[in-house]
Amino acid sequence: MLESLCRIALRCFAMTKPACPMCEMTDVMEHPEKWECMTCGHEWEREAPPEAGRVVKDAHGNILTDGDCVVLIKDLKLGGGSQVLKGGAKSKPIRLVDGDHEISCKMDGIAVGLKACFVKKA
Ligand SMILES: [Zn+2]
Repeated sequence: MLESLCRIALRCFAMTKPACPMCEMTDVMEHPEKWECMTCGHEWEREAPPEAGRVVKDAHGNILTDGDCVVLIKDLKLGGGSQVLKGGAKSKPIRLVDGDHEISCKMDGIAVGLKACFVKKA
């Protein structure tokens, strides 16, 4: 069971190999720190693995973790803009999530997604 899961993960990973930026072929060899195109020999640096070891920092550079509370540093409009969260409002304990709104939490009883750059650690 475990082994078959590993194989599936490997196969998925293989499909995420990039195409060569020079010739756009996908026959690419993986090195620890770079990619090498088997077609034209072009080598380029690998990007850091997405999300792995991701650090979310607030507006002042403090590292945020699950369970922290945050305070808004500016007014934020919600959705259509009919509701506004006031700067200085404090959240319930946060949860860090993927995406460009890194923080999922409740504020004023409303579930919201916030950008870390608009908050500071409470
Ligand atoms: Zn190439």
